[in-house]
Amino acid sequence: MPAEMELQALWFSGAFGRKFLSTAGQEVEIVQFGEWNRGAGPDFHHVVVLIDGHSHHGALELDPCASDWENHQHATNPAYRDVVLHVSFGGDEREHFIRNDQHQLIPQVVISAAELTEALQRPRRETAIARAGRCVAPLRHMNSASIVSLLQEAALHRAQLKARRFWQIAEAHGRDAALFQSVAQTLGYRSNALTMQVLAQRARLASLRERPEASEAILLGTAGFLHPTIHEKANGETRTYLEKLWQTWWKHRAQFESIHPLPWKWNGHRPANHPHRRVAALAVLVDHWPKIRHHAMARPFSPKHLLERLTSLKHPFWNHHHTLGSTRSSSFIALFGKTQALEWIANHLAPLALQDDPHFDLDAYTRLRALSCNESVRRAGIRLFGSETLAKPWQKSIAHQQALLQVYRDFCLEDTSDCALCPFPEQLSQWQA
Ligand code: SF4
Repeated sequence: MPAEMELQALWFSGAFGRKFLSTAGQEVEIVQFGEWNRGAGPDFHHVVVLIDGHSHHGALELDPCASDWENHQHATNPAYRDVVLHVSFGGDEREHFIRNDQHQLIPQVVISAAELTEALQRPRRETAIARAGRCVAPLRHMNSASIVSLLQEAALHRAQLKARRFWQIAEAHGRDAALFQSVAQTLGYRSNALTMQVLAQRARLASLRERPEASEAILLGTAGFLHPTIHEKANGETRTYLEKLWQTWWKHRAQFESIHPLPWKWNGHRPANHPHRRVAALAVLVDHWPKIRHHAMARPFSPKHLLERLTSLKHPFWNHHHTLGSTRSSSFIALFGKTQALEWIANHLAPLALQDDPHFDLDAYTRLRALSCNESVRRAGIRLFGSETLAKPWQKSIAHQQALLQVYRDFCLEDTSDCALCPFPEQLSQWQA
């Protein structure tokens, strides 16, 4: 049996076709193969399946064997609740009942060993993380100026939505709290963004600023990372650091500790992005808050000054440790990387500056270069332009990346017809620069 990743790639490329019979004899048709998920949870999201003519929109899980559903405990995991179809591969003759955590039966399709062998023998193209959409053709016929104006329009729309959300939080909790939550969210990356925001709500900036000597211990303790024996296996400076953290946290614990632990996701990070380090970085920002706040909200807005300030932040322990319990690394580990700083600017600060800074216009926004291209941007690029190579010229600017994400969200994620009924291609053909 090929590896699970290879089976997913075959499935996503349509190697087994679109029409199947379920194990219960229902007619199954894949309308939309959806979005290939490389993180935790079901393998494909935003899938549309017709089962006996009825449309179902949700997730799809693919396992080499039907028994993997139970063995991997998907049946009790709420993350698999919206799975609308389970796909597995032949070889196991036993009957399996695939149910979600609410005891609802999930239709199953089993690909036979003969179908798998045949698919493996066919010549294969490299499988991309997304499928090209119907708007590839009209975009191919648009000139660069029209594409730039389209992307700027979409980026502006996204910035307005983001700025509105920021001011809603600022109105309820104050501008500093909104800014603090926005940077916490950024530090959480995709998988822990919400958890970091909740942490910033539980350990509020104002409370932390009232206790500057304890803010680091309070944040790490509120995050759930400290316990009485944390220092026992450590030596030297680490032991001293951990003991001090616990002794400080112990005094503030009653005020900040919640009976509801924060749901951290631990997998899929590079060591430098471990949740311990992200919370520590937030604590360092608290120490430097007046200057950080000044650069973040200064008008005219200068991304350069903010980047310099953020990337120069230092901490004697965290510049050489990946986690609270790890051994000292001889190399220097930046607390706040340039990519991270640009993420904060792209998602929160530039949208605000676009609203109220006459010096920061769309052209200035478009000139901000992106240092990386995350999976969502890559996926949007393939959907709209047809391939990673063709999308590349439109992924260099932070503003263009934001624009692609907005189009993807407004159209691709709303569509359940595999592009057939999506209005975007027709809107594109009428677009004038
Ligand atoms: S869903 Fe719409 S916007 Fe997305 S790729 Fe298909 S046609 Fe384009």
